[in-house]
Amino acid sequence: MATFDNIISRLADIKAIENLSDKEIALLSAPKRVKYAELDVDGKKYPAWRILFNDALGAGKGGIRFHPDVCEDEVKSLSFWMAVKNSLAGLPYGGAKGGVKFDPKTTDKATMEKISRAYIDEFYTVLGQDVDIPAPDVYTNAQIMGWMLDEFEKKVGHHEPGMITGKPIELGGSILRGDATARGGYMVIKEMSQTILGTNQGLKVSIQGFGNAGLNIAAMLAADGFKITAVSDSKGGVYNEAGLDIAQLVAVKTRGGAVQELESAQKITNEELLELPVDIMVLAALENQITVANASRVQARCIVELANGPIDYAADKVLFEKKIMVVPDILANSGGVIVSYFEWCQNRTGNIVDNDYLSELLVKKMKSAWQEVYNKYQEKNGQADLRLAAYIIALNRILAAEKYRGQI
Ligand code: NAD
Repeated sequence: MATFDNIISRLADIKAIENLSDKEIALLSAPKRVKYAELDVDGKKYPAWRILFNDALGAGKGGIRFHPDVCEDEVKSLSFWMAVKNSLAGLPYGGAKGGVKFDPKTTDKATMEKISRAYIDEFYTVLGQDVDIPAPDVYTNAQIMGWMLDEFEKKVGHHEPGMITGKPIELGGSILRGDATARGGYMVIKEMSQTILGTNQGLKVSIQGFGNAGLNIAAMLAADGFKITAVSDSKGGVYNEAGLDIAQLVAVKTRGGAVQELESAQKITNEELLELPVDIMVLAALENQITVANASRVQARCIVELANGPIDYAADKVLFEKKIMVVPDILANSGGVIVSYFEWCQNRTGNIVDNDYLSELLVKKMKSAWQEVYNKYQEKNGQADLRLAAYIIALNRILAAEKYRGQI
């Protein structure tokens, strides 16, 4: 099933639970603006998108992905998820996303810079601190945000650091951004495990994906007494019932290696990792990893989605039947965009805010978001899983804004 079809199916479920009208569902089912361009770099064409899904709550906000599989369906889905994620977090943002279809792993730095600048040349008229604000996503980073900011400011003729977040610190970025997604996910795991599993000590955890999100959350959990028994990256996984040495794994990845280079651990496949009996499985790689093909074999007691969209619609139903609790992406990985919001506020006001204060604020926001979603889940009394509970809160907020705007 294409990714956006999953969203349409979930909207149908929410329509039934919340008694929404056809008009409301139509508004939530289609993006407000889809822009496509072919970036021309050194005579080669690169398909590129910027999609604004909804901006009733504020300017669009969402990252830019560089990946060979980027397509309109994916960017549209990611822009929808940003709209619900930003709404759930209570941020003054709509949802947007961008992408360029190419393989950054086989592209040299000079070409990466040209592609980044060409992206802005094509899309700068629909970007800006009060219009639509990009950030990093898969295979984009602070340096790319720096090139994009520079190109944008050349185009518009003034400084506007709030037009993009996840920038280098020297260009107005936040020191907290690097591990913010993992930190937010870690806070949610602490709250969730206490509420659902009755403890947050000594629990067994598996982690799919060992990049920015997966590696950082592994380090935080291991330091806090969780036992990480399995991790994987795109080349395969490793397993140790007694707990993996996370510091060694981080060292392997930092020098550019793969997790299977870790000695003293059993090699497993990615498929095997997804079916291990653990207390918590963290999904921190890509979309559509748990589908009907493997959902029935999942043995984790809880799943936390740090990646966007790692579980498809049909698999959600299987996991719900199996009473496996899924903490949805729009809650679990919202730490990144919350810190982006702090960065944007500082860029706009010129104020320098104490980072310890912002760290505390992130923790508070994550805890209250978890509590709000869990309360809604309980209120729905078996009608909705945590994902639908989170969507209900977020979509009702967007619909309320649309109503005040007179759109419905
Ligand atoms: P990343 O590129 O740093 O890491 C991705 C990791 O997944 C790598 O270790 C890669 O080897 C691994 N991987 C790829 N395919 C795999 C497979 N089939 N099985 C196992 N591992 C596989 O990316 P990231 O920034 O860590 O993002 C990961 C996910 O989290 C994405 O879905 C992204 O959209 C989401 N996310 C990230 C952030 C953030 O701030 N980094 C914020 C929100 C959401």
